[in-house]
Formats: sequence, C-alpha cells, structure tokens
Amino acid sequence: VSFADLGLSKELCEACTRLGFKHPTEIQRASIPPALEGNDVIGLAQTGSGKTAAFALPILQALWDAPQPFFACIMAPTRELVFQISEQIEALGAGIGVRSAVIIGGVDMMSQAIALSKKPHVVVCTPGRLQDHLENTKGFNLRNLKYLVMDEADRLLDMDFGPKIEQILAVLPSDRRTFLFSATMTDKVAKLQRASIRGTPVRVQI
Ligand code: AMP
Repeated sequence: VSFADLGLSKELCEACTRLGFKHPTEIQRASIPPALEGNDVIGLAQTGSGKTAAFALPILQALWDAPQPFFACIMAPTRELVFQISEQIEALGAGIGVRSAVIIGGVDMMSQAIALSKKPHVVVCTPGRLQDHLENTKGFNLRNLKYLVMDEADRLLDMDFGPKIEQILAVLPSDRRTFLFSATMTDKVAKLQRASIRGTPVRVQI
C-alpha cells in the first residue's frame, strides 16, 4: 500500500517521500481513508506510530482543496508535543504553502496575537493558552474552523485541561470534523468524545 493508494494528492505523496516516509504506517493506513471521506475519527495509537501524519495529511489535503484562515486547530498536552506537531505540519505542508502558528503558555501573548493576526491556516496549541486568546485577543475566533484535533487526549485530561477544552468546544462551529487521538480509551476520554463528536466516529485501533 502506498500513500497514493490511500487517496492522498501527488503533492502530499511527494512530501512524504521527501520526509523519508516510504510506506504508510498501520495507523495511517487505517485512519487516512475514512478521514479523507469526511468522517470523524477516534484513533487509539501510541506516540511513534505515525499518528501525527495520520491526522495531518487528511487535513492538509482538505486545506489544499479549499484554503482558508483558521482551517484547523490541533490541541496537544505539552509544549514539546505542540512543537513536534507543528514541525511535521510545516514539513508535510511546505509544498502547498501551509502557514501555521504555535500557541503555548510561557510565551508572551502579544507576539502570539501578532501571529494570529496573520491568519494562519493551522493553529497548534495547548488548550490553556488557546482559551486565553479566544477570550482576550481582539479579532481572533475559530468560528470558521473545519477540523479540530485533540492529540493525546488521555494526557490532556490527566493534566486537567478538561474544563478549558469544554470552554473551547463551546465556541467552535458544529459543522466541523473532529479527530480524537489517545493512547488509551478511558472513561474521561469517552466523555470527551461525547462532548466533541456527534454521531458515530470511525474508530481505529492499532
Ligand atoms: P508520531 O507517532 O506521529 O510521533 O511519529 C513518529 C515518527 O515517525 C516521526 O518522527 C515521524 O516523522 C515518523 N513517521 C511518521 N510516518 C512515517 C512513515 N509512514 N514512515 C516512516 N516514518 C514515519
């Protein structure tokens, strides 16, 4: 199976080749086709499985089809993970001109507000600081968001980001796709699934 077989465009297949990805990993083979078809996806997968590209590639393909500011928001529990995701989005999206912003705590609000005013396609963030900008940064909102990703959802909830995530979900449009990735399916993750996804997502477990 190749990346092209999964339904990805030539530009994105070339980006995978440039990054040294020869064949899609198991989580990529399982989740990319349903994600490209417009389904919500619950992915149960560990770090190292290739889960970042599993959610990033379908988003980048949809963005390429209809580019717009604040197309996707990706939430992750730690600054390190946010940087890793952002690097991979930039690398995979380089050929299609993707612009992203990193929004994390410990960095001044003003420089991030300037980055947001440039209307990036993708925001990669920790939930606390994103909620701070949604509340306090004039002109910034996610009302046109098409894709929400919650990565390492079990850790997001262990770190007590649940209430922040609920506040964020309340201001997101309901006509969006949601990808929820977690190493484990816990009661708290199941509750977050119910709060963030209507209907039945495609569940992918590796
Ligand atoms: P992740 O699970 O998303 O943290 O990815 C783990 C590592 O695997 C990252 O360094 C990726 O660049 C790499 N990777 C992702 N997909 C593939 C692939 N299909 N082939 C080879 N390496 C990959």
